[in-house]
Amino acid sequence: MFPLTEENKHVAQLLFGTGTCPRCIFRFCGVDFHAPYKHSYEELLNDIQKFLKAEKDELILEVPNPPLKKIRLQELEDGIDNPSQNGENKISVIEDGSIASPNSNLNVNVCNVCLGILQEFCEKEFIKKVCQKVEASGFEFTNLVFSVSFPPQLSVREHAAWLLVKQEMGKQSLSLGRNDIVQLKEAYKWITYPLFSEELGVPIDGKSLFEVSVVFAHPETVGDCHFLGKILPDCFKPAKNKQSVFTRMAVMKALNKIKEEDFRKQFPCPPNSPKAVCTVLEIECAHGAVFVAGRYNKYSRNLPQTPWIIDGERKLESSVEELISDHLLTVFKAESFNFSSSGREDVDVRTLGNAQMLTPSTRFCFMTGCVLPGRPFAIELVNPHRVHFTSQEIKELQQKINKSSNKIQVRDLQLVSREAIGHMKEGEEEKTKTYSALIWTNKVIQKKDIEFLNDIKTPATLKSLYMETLGEPGQTLAL
Ligand SMILES: [Zn+2]
Repeated sequence: MFPLTEENKHVAQLLFGTGTCPRCIFRFCGVDFHAPYKHSYEELLNDIQKFLKAEKDELILEVPNPPLKKIRLQELEDGIDNPSQNGENKISVIEDGSIASPNSNLNVNVCNVCLGILQEFCEKEFIKKVCQKVEASGFEFTNLVFSVSFPPQLSVREHAAWLLVKQEMGKQSLSLGRNDIVQLKEAYKWITYPLFSEELGVPIDGKSLFEVSVVFAHPETVGDCHFLGKILPDCFKPAKNKQSVFTRMAVMKALNKIKEEDFRKQFPCPPNSPKAVCTVLEIECAHGAVFVAGRYNKYSRNLPQTPWIIDGERKLESSVEELISDHLLTVFKAESFNFSSSGREDVDVRTLGNAQMLTPSTRFCFMTGCVLPGRPFAIELVNPHRVHFTSQEIKELQQKINKSSNKIQVRDLQLVSREAIGHMKEGEEEKTKTYSALIWTNKVIQKKDIEFLNDIKTPATLKSLYMETLGEPGQTLAL
């Protein structure tokens, strides 16, 4: 059912006449149920034209700042109208200002408020393109979260359209608050979520670890925000990792601060009609990290826990971390990993089952909660493409790791939650360790030497003492 009533007619006329698309008109008329937005663009355009037809002549007279249709028509005639970089978009305007009946989604006026977001970018065809990218990315997923980033100048245009409609409604003693308008993002979600779900066959779930993000840009109107920087420079501070000071947040902040008359002086209300629709800057897929934990034993005195590299030079060819993680990276098809463990041993220390049973690091077992030999470890797999494994597959993976080297053995390998890693680290903080040391020396040990050793209390001191001795061949200090 067409959602606009006689009450909305005036606003709908005003917006339509200034180059606003049907879905944006719905938003500004406060249509807050999803169904009307989901109709095809062509259908909506026909419906709204029918709805407004009776009063078209009146409409043209009332528009305070009509778009420059004559000029644009001229451009078309001159054959210089190639507004879109990829040539996808065409403007089709006929003499009396109405929009030529579009045979395809591409043959429409670009909305002066949403810059095409609620036009071709929420139609099935575009969603299909995004889904093709998602499928080609090779990620394994059972649901997804969809995020979208619009160019910041859309907020400026939204503000201008709001001021226009607010003023018009004011004439009829009606008010229009910012929150009375349906947000662009909301409307976009209403239309696109069901299309995504249908195309990919999985639900959209805000908690999903698999994220598909689309970033839009609109180079033609980048300058829309610049006047805000001159009037409210305090809102636009350079920030790290940001190419421009005109971020969406900064623009929103400035729009909340700027006085209505200042805005009107600087920016046309209604906003002018752009030539091209937005461009898609990127379509990205990413999967949140997954965690694998287990316990390891180390049987070699030439194997550090993590790669041992000093001044860019590798001291030993492998490490516990690499012997385990390399297999996981391949199987999970992950981008990178972060290895952590409950404590660490030095390179020439072995972690044997029986010996480890006596240390606090054996207290916790992820699977059973029992005391088992081996040092607990966890590996965060960043951006994994494969995430679903049967227990049999994990078992086979463990066997593969164990077969590949006689320097380590892994047990209890399993997928765990991020929280479980937290427990492992917490346990580590509570630990106290007792060390005994046997020291050889070629001079007679004095009482003051014993006192010196007794005074060494912090792990940092022990560590540095140990490293110093390691650096000098021939000296050993076993801790
Ligand atoms: Zn629009």
